[in-house]
Amino acid sequence: MPLVTLKEILAPAKEHNYAVAAFDTMDFTLTEGIIQAAEQTGKPVILMLPGFIFDRPDAQSMLDFNLNRIAKSPVPICYHLDHGKADECVKAIHAGCSSVMYDGSSLPMEENIAVTKEIVKVAHTCGVSVEAEIGHVAAPEGSVEGSVADASKFTRPEDAAYFVEQTGIDALAIAFGTVHGVYKGTPHLDLERLAQIKRLVDVPLVMHGGSGLPEQDFRSAVKYGINKINFFTGMSLATIAAMRRLIEETDGRVRYIKLYDAALQTVIQCAKEQMEIFGTQSIYS
Ligand SMILES: [Zn+2]
Repeated sequence: MPLVTLKEILAPAKEHNYAVAAFDTMDFTLTEGIIQAAEQTGKPVILMLPGFIFDRPDAQSMLDFNLNRIAKSPVPICYHLDHGKADECVKAIHAGCSSVMYDGSSLPMEENIAVTKEIVKVAHTCGVSVEAEIGHVAAPEGSVEGSVADASKFTRPEDAAYFVEQTGIDALAIAFGTVHGVYKGTPHLDLERLAQIKRLVDVPLVMHGGSGLPEQDFRSAVKYGINKINFFTGMSLATIAAMRRLIEETDGRVRYIKLYDAALQTVIQCAKEQMEIFGTQSIYS
């Protein structure tokens, strides 16, 4: 049961009211750690590629490694492009992704619908799922400067219903109080808005910008209808902190493999903790 689409991995999550964790990978350590966390717990996971990966000189090695690693795993894994532009969605489909997110959230609604529809047509022809976004989650992906959520950019429930109906997407990312990267101040999730969108929209709902939310907010978001949670900044900061601790403890006289192991174990631990908080159900249970 290796590679599955977003539609397939989220169907049981929607039925049984839990969320599947989606983590970005950009190197061997992250891919390995994220997949080991899924294997150790028997839980499904979404491995996400950031769009910039295609511009890196080592892109092909990374893509080959990801596909081979997924194919060898006994747990369901969705291989997903995170925040793609149109050309990146096509590259991701070519690279073997089973799902893409086209992000036209900064475009006017009708333009976002028009492009998303084209992506859906191409992706569905190839058996690939599509996530799209309306409303706007503050700050660029991966931001570590700290941001506040802008309520004027939150997703309007009637827009969400119209957008899904017009585009035929498989999952919808919505804005209701999270920010990408690190929070400035205390986050306030608009759960009433989430509940309204859930009532009007039939496809699974996605929350971006989860890092830094209190545990209770994740649980509430899942309870009110979120089925996929993107989480990366928190994992990245925890991994860097673990490596820094080891370097400081040894005054820099540390074997490279020890540093790698510290990073890998932190990724595994962090992924397992988030899966637990999101209520992700094991395929063995
Ligand atoms: Zn995002």
